[in-house]
Amino acid sequence: MVTTRLKTTKSEEIFAAAQKLMPGGVNSPVRAFKSVGGQPIVFDHVQGAYMWDVDGNQYIDYVGSWGPAICGHAHPEVIAALQDALVKGTSFGAPCYLENVLAEMVIDAVPSVEMVRFVNSGTEACMAVLRLMRAFTGREKLIKFEGCYHGHADMFLVKAGSGVATLGLPDSPGVPKSTTANTLTAPYNDLEAVKALFAENPNEIAGVILEPIVGNAGFIPPDAGFLEGLRELTKEHGALLVFDEVMTGFRIAYGGAQERFGVTPDLTTMGKVIGGGLPVGAYGGRKDIMQLVAPAGPMYQAGTLSGNPLAMTAGIKTLELLKRPGTYEYLDRVTKKLTDGLLQIAQETGHAACGGQISGMFGFFFTEGPVHSYEDAKKADLTKFGRFHRGMLEQGIYLAPSQFEAGFTSLAHTDEDIDRTLAAAREVMASL
Ligand SMILES: *Cc1c(COP(=O)(O)O)cnc(C)c1O
Repeated sequence: MVTTRLKTTKSEEIFAAAQKLMPGGVNSPVRAFKSVGGQPIVFDHVQGAYMWDVDGNQYIDYVGSWGPAICGHAHPEVIAALQDALVKGTSFGAPCYLENVLAEMVIDAVPSVEMVRFVNSGTEACMAVLRLMRAFTGREKLIKFEGCYHGHADMFLVKAGSGVATLGLPDSPGVPKSTTANTLTAPYNDLEAVKALFAENPNEIAGVILEPIVGNAGFIPPDAGFLEGLRELTKEHGALLVFDEVMTGFRIAYGGAQERFGVTPDLTTMGKVIGGGLPVGAYGGRKDIMQLVAPAGPMYQAGTLSGNPLAMTAGIKTLELLKRPGTYEYLDRVTKKLTDGLLQIAQETGHAACGGQISGMFGFFFTEGPVHSYEDAKKADLTKFGRFHRGMLEQGIYLAPSQFEAGFTSLAHTDEDIDRTLAAAREVMASL
């Protein structure tokens, strides 16, 4: 029996008003809780592993602002650095030394990155990297994978369910067919499908972009040999390999998934963690490719607020904190304790479930699994997840409001937080 009933009067009032002011009451769709049902919570403040809503309820947070809060929310050292930077001004619109500092840190850390350009979001980074792939190769087609998210730019908004797998039909009204006609898709972890696309489109494919660990269809790690296979195939066909590490960069390891798996792409996109909670994205890679970006080269891409001192400061301090010894070992340990515990409890309470984690990124599906692709993930029991989500919320545990999102821990999550979470999960699962 789930005993705690949340008091959410103020959340409800504010969200009702928000729906008249903003489409769906939110500024980013998943926040609206549509896929789990019920009412979203409106928050007042965050600190460490916790969030407090406007009614005064406290939650242990496993969303972490969708990834950036890897050191814990409002880390005192990040806040102090931001306070110092703030009095010097928020945006110069001109070169600032802090850009060099963060660029050097990213180049030192991420194996594929020899040169980098900062932007303001992951979406922007992915848009730019696609233009760059095309500019460098002189080819227009790209391969992406089903269930992988690369921001909301037109060319990437292709769901491509089974029947239309390679037709490049757009996923959203307003996206012209002509824009996505060059977007080919394959199931994740399916090298043969990628081989076939290369064979069907000789000398036309600019490159392959993927999440090296999928986080936007739930948590789906790459099968052994998948990343290596893509590296070989792209080389063989004169195409570029791009890792979208907006989620995995500085989260899976300091050097991202590419460090962890030992596969180096030609280009990499980043975001989330490198902004330390401020809006930052970045793309980088081989110097000969990056030299095409304006003003060094002809490929245009710009940004009024790109590289602003506040965003750079939050990024620099966050990376400094992550570089300290033991960080990723700690994230791995507490996160494994969480996912092992959840799977154990599911088994004991009679629910089919599968899941896993790498470092501070995890996932959990209500299906027997194993999950290797978006098709597999879609077999999960979404109704059950919705009830589980609501039950956990009432127990003060804030999980991503969708079965198709990865979860995140932070350096602020303690063993006690995990124990409390598992105790809540036991009660909720027993009641499902
Ligand atoms: C979040 C995300 C994006 C988009 O980043 P925004 O900052 O939300 O625009 C792109 N790719 C991946 C893999 C992401 O997780």
